Amino acid sequence: CGIVGYVGHRQALEVVLGGLRRLEYRGYDSAGVALLDGEGGLAVERAAGALANLEKRLAEVDGSKFAGHSGMGHTRWATHGAPTDRNAHPHRDASGQVAVVHNGIIENFAALRAELEAAGIEMASDTDTETTAHLVAAAYADGPTAGDLTASVCAVARRLEGAFTLVVTHAAEPGKIVAARRSSPLVVGVGEGEHFLASDVAAFIEHTRDAVELGQDQVVTITRDGYRVTDFSAVDVEAKPFTVDWDL
Ligand code: GLU
Repeated sequence: CGIVGYVGHRQALEVVLGGLRRLEYRGYDSAGVALLDGEGGLAVERAAGALANLEKRLAEVDGSKFAGHSGMGHTRWATHGAPTDRNAHPHRDASGQVAVVHNGIIENFAALRAELEAAGIEMASDTDTETTAHLVAAAYADGPTAGDLTASVCAVARRLEGAFTLVVTHAAEPGKIVAARRSSPLVVGVGEGEHFLASDVAAFIEHTRDAVELGQDQVVTITRDGYRVTDFSAVDVEAKPFTVDWDL
């Protein structure tokens, strides 16, 4: 339902939780965050219920795991799978290297799940979303898109049916977040030495008003210093910058 991503010079957890708070008005049933520590660590915490439940859980765990400068967060409005801890986003692949958050519905998830299960992968949730974490991990590990997170997300996006904003991180590329969209909103916030992703500009306008709206079937890669927009074939496309001019 609500999505926030961040790469920059601040503590990502604060930015991500602040963004999720600003998206709370949209309604949700669970929330979660994934943080990259820059040294190959990917920490995930999730909780059913209010954002306060997630914050309480974060206060109880080792804070150093969540001290990185890139990360993402999600507030879920369940469509596939009950609103429980295990179905809350982010979802990970079996190695725990890839984390995804997703808004919308992957219409062909049953076929994708059957394919993954036939390959011996065990699902850890009842969601449509989880399939995409396993698919990205496989695309990144092997074949023509190996070692290229943007190309891997493009390859997976081409296989998905339905409406989605899909945001992906890989522990091997801690300074990078990649997102794909089809029929579901996604905007980039452009700052000085920091970039944001969100389902709604409200998530980042306290930090920057320079934004870029993604078009249909596009993928964006953000790093601390820049962003790159492509189509699902990983071909660069022109992005449309705009300034958010409404008041907080
Ligand atoms: N279909 C996904 C799920 O049920 C995402 C729902 C959402 O947009 O929050 O987990």
